[in-house]
Amino acid sequence: MKTFFFNFEDGLEQKYIDWAKEAVQDFINLFPEYKDNFATKEANFTYADINLQTLANQNREIYEDRKRRQISTEDFDENSFWQMFEKLPDGSYKASFEKQIALATRNGMLDIQKLSSLQTDAAGNMYSASMPLLINITKQKAHGNIRGISTKIAVNISAGTCAALGYQGEDLKAYFKDIIIHELGHSFNATHEERQNTVENLGTHCTDKNCLMYEYAYTNESFNRRRRLKEPFCQDCMASMRDYMQNELHFTRRNENQTLHVNQGQDTQTPAENGIDAEFKKALREVFSASAKQQNAEYVEDAKLPIYSAEIKHANGSVDKITAASADNVFLSAKDKDGNLQLPNLQRFRDIVALAQKQGSAIEFGDIKSADFKARLLVACLEAKPAMQMVGAPELNDEFLQTVQDEKLKNLLQVLKNKQQTQAQPQQTQTTAAQTPDINKLLQQRNGGR
Ligand SMILES: [Zn+2]
Ligand SMILES: [Zn+2]
Repeated sequence: MKTFFFNFEDGLEQKYIDWAKEAVQDFINLFPEYKDNFATKEANFTYADINLQTLANQNREIYEDRKRRQISTEDFDENSFWQMFEKLPDGSYKASFEKQIALATRNGMLDIQKLSSLQTDAAGNMYSASMPLLINITKQKAHGNIRGISTKIAVNISAGTCAALGYQGEDLKAYFKDIIIHELGHSFNATHEERQNTVENLGTHCTDKNCLMYEYAYTNESFNRRRRLKEPFCQDCMASMRDYMQNELHFTRRNENQTLHVNQGQDTQTPAENGIDAEFKKALREVFSASAKQQNAEYVEDAKLPIYSAEIKHANGSVDKITAASADNVFLSAKDKDGNLQLPNLQRFRDIVALAQKQGSAIEFGDIKSADFKARLLVACLEAKPAMQMVGAPELNDEFLQTVQDEKLKNLLQVLKNKQQTQAQPQQTQTTAAQTPDINKLLQQRNGGR
């Protein structure tokens, strides 16, 4: 379970409170399969059982250790540490957001890095994957024009800085929400260091210009470019976050047993109950129309039919056809420019995997006659990150490889097969290490300030 605790600085305008809650909800909605693992609450964060003296000592040691190892020159600010807590009548302590803000403010402006660092000290070694994530919104403007900063325990956003940028009305709302969702991306490991297509610039960022995790996502130019797009994050960032939720936070997936059947051919059985505006068509349309656009292909949907039926027409004259009577039973076929049957473009299989990931389903190999069709679906499933759960998939062995005719496909599968073998061992040790929260690592994780 991951609970978002909201902290709003006293005097913050109501609209920022509403927008912050909306942004967090928008973020949660990106992961329908993990939706049940999220909760949101107004903050009332107390440390009932913690001995603050022990925590202070631990912090001091951590800071000294980091200085010894020349990771940082920062000293533990013990005075500030004690001053951010309020003692409650029952003897427990509460880390006060107002006090943290006061301690991190100079000349009426907020040092947002300092604020973040105080919160990390207050959380101390209590960090674990199941710990709540604080969503802290300040009224104050931040030094250095920093809009937001994130750690694994808190996201700090300066509404004051966002307000001073000159955006108005809906633009201000969209921008402010973008900043929050960007910082949440950091907190949920969207751009971790082992991933490709990232760059190190004030935290790790994505190299995809259309992605909200892009290194210059905060600029006016990026904001305007992105406003025309529907999806905030690129597929790589989405996959990294899903991976984090599944493997580090150990979220439970909704519809654990739900599968998406993939079949070869066209759907000939049309259930009468599906109206032309059936809800399931939306998810299919989103995936396939966006993908066609990326391939510079034409997307044509026959919206008058009770089932989902779309064609993707490529420049070379070939056409992929997708039909589905429900969200969990998809049929794929294709023809070349002369109307002869051929295998659908590999991208269609990747689209189906993306669709299954969105729904939180496993892929079930349905009615499929050709080995090459199976092979394409297998490639798309194995390439996916995290790897797609499969039902009824052929085993990736030499016997299967011999039945595949397309040489390029065969080579691709051979590479994936070798990778599977070499990865099996070291991956296991990696997972165990990653599960143990490391306080030193946590304190360094001031990722994503801007
Ligand atoms: Zn990205
Ligand atoms: Zn960032």
